[in-house]
Amino acid sequence: MSDSRIAVYAGSFDPIHNGHLDIVQRCRKVFDQTIVAVLSNLEKEPTFSIDERVEMIDQELEECDDCEAQSFSGLLVDFMETVNARALVRGLRAVSDFEYEFQMALMNRRLNPEVETVFMMPREDYIYLSSRLVKEVFFLGGDLDGLVPSRVLDRLARVRDLSGDSEPR
Ligand code: ADP
Repeated sequence: MSDSRIAVYAGSFDPIHNGHLDIVQRCRKVFDQTIVAVLSNLEKEPTFSIDERVEMIDQELEECDDCEAQSFSGLLVDFMETVNARALVRGLRAVSDFEYEFQMALMNRRLNPEVETVFMMPREDYIYLSSRLVKEVFFLGGDLDGLVPSRVLDRLARVRDLSGDSEPR
């Protein structure tokens, strides 16, 4: 088994935003390698396909040799085993995140006692950001400058143009 400290930062990332990227940069300070694990079976109708989400993340992290995006389905603890990771990183925004995250952390610990969940807080500017809110604001024509990478905004514009109206998928 390798000695390197590998973090798995898991979620749906539909799409990735600056709050997520802030957490990845924090992971890099603590871990040797960060794997952004994109869950493919959580939302029934995501705005972006699993391949698009992975591609968007890899584009934003292309300068970071210690980071990569991978998709997974099924149990996160099983995925972690396959990539030899013990640290499961989750971003904590507000008290509202706490109860669900607490349940998940304890369940994951029960499923695999070797897995430790690590919570990280983003910069205050991003504490209210979520992918859902990003999409809502975008499709209603709001300004997301400084909250979402410009390439992600371009992708959202493509979805809007393809759908022919202002409603997200
Ligand atoms: P979202 O809630 O934006 O749809 P995900 O469900 O993809 O995000 O969550 C992936 C991980 O990122 C989770 O641990 C979630 O708590 C965390 N996260 C989501 N938004 C933020 C944010 N604004 N700042 C820090 N972490 C976040």
